[in-house]
Amino acid sequence: MKITGSTLPVLRRCQWWAREDVQAPPALPPSDAMLIGTEVHAAIESMLIGRKVELHTDDARDLFHEWQQWWSTSPLSVDEWTAEAAYAYDVQRDAARFIGTNVGRGYQVSTTEIPGTIDALAIGDDHAEIIDWKTTSGFGAGPADANDNWQLRLYALMVARAHRIDSVTIHVVRITPNGVTSTSHTLDAFEIDAVAHEVKRLVDAVPTALPQQGSHCHRCRAVAVCPTTNAATTAIAPPEPVKLEITDDNAGALLMKLRQVQAACEQLEGSLKLYAANKMAEGIRLPTGKRWVRVGVDRESINLNGDANALGIAIISMAGAERALEPKIVVSKAGIERELKAQGLKGRELKQKIDDVMSELRAAGATRVTTVDAYREVE
Ligand code: SF4
Repeated sequence: MKITGSTLPVLRRCQWWAREDVQAPPALPPSDAMLIGTEVHAAIESMLIGRKVELHTDDARDLFHEWQQWWSTSPLSVDEWTAEAAYAYDVQRDAARFIGTNVGRGYQVSTTEIPGTIDALAIGDDHAEIIDWKTTSGFGAGPADANDNWQLRLYALMVARAHRIDSVTIHVVRITPNGVTSTSHTLDAFEIDAVAHEVKRLVDAVPTALPQQGSHCHRCRAVAVCPTTNAATTAIAPPEPVKLEITDDNAGALLMKLRQVQAACEQLEGSLKLYAANKMAEGIRLPTGKRWVRVGVDRESINLNGDANALGIAIISMAGAERALEPKIVVSKAGIERELKAQGLKGRELKQKIDDVMSELRAAGATRVTTVDAYREVE
């Protein structure tokens, strides 16, 4: 079965992509936003299970700092949590089993099982709490609130069946650079049964399903091969020259189609990146005579955890951005920039000041550079 916990929300809108005869492109390498999300998830997991927290990018540090502040006052923090708990739900038997923790996404499941991994789980005698950390919002309203979040509703069903519990509270926690918000919903035995019924109905509909186009298409693994993407492309780029009129009546539908086509383009670009990466230095030959190849691009971040700690702190303080140091291990270039902006610096003066601080931190050994993949045209 192609369905997992994270694809259930799309399955509720359209079941065509889950048919056995639909060949979706291979999974793409994670985007930058996904990599940051993975880093934040790993840091939170480390914190929950008492492991050393490691963060390598400014963005992840900023998000983790926001989470830490929120968690320190959250009533949830008193519970005992298990992180990255994988389960499988057997649709035909209406039963579930615990697979393990930290098993990655290469689940071993039967043809009637749906796998899923819970970010954080606390199980009591007759009640369980499930948390999903969200660090990306994407197009539209972002992840659904807890009461309408079918990924978490399925996880509640899994935990209820695996541990014979009939009360589960699910929490969607959105972590942003501007703060953390959360929604919660408690499912009782009746609602958990209703989730089981709905999951079975959706799975049973898959073999004969037709594509159901909508705002969910931009999250679909099969968007690049779906027949409705062709119609969406025609709507935003008609084959015949016509005047494209945007009105109150068609603007929403056009935007939705645009997102679908963008998602299809991203899938194709991801597949081309994989192809280019496998070709190593040869890359993809372009009609211009150039080649499109994978190259390593350095990213610099501030590191105040090493020997240069005191000197680095002094440099930032002398620059007048000491308030950016408050979070201790979570000092980012963006934080320093915010502080300097708050002091009225802008434009060239701001850029020069940041360049000076970064150059001094670099000389003091208080930065670190990580290399990420990028794709460039080369001669
Ligand atoms: S692109 Fe949309 S209509 Fe097509 S399979 Fe995916 S969700 Fe269904």
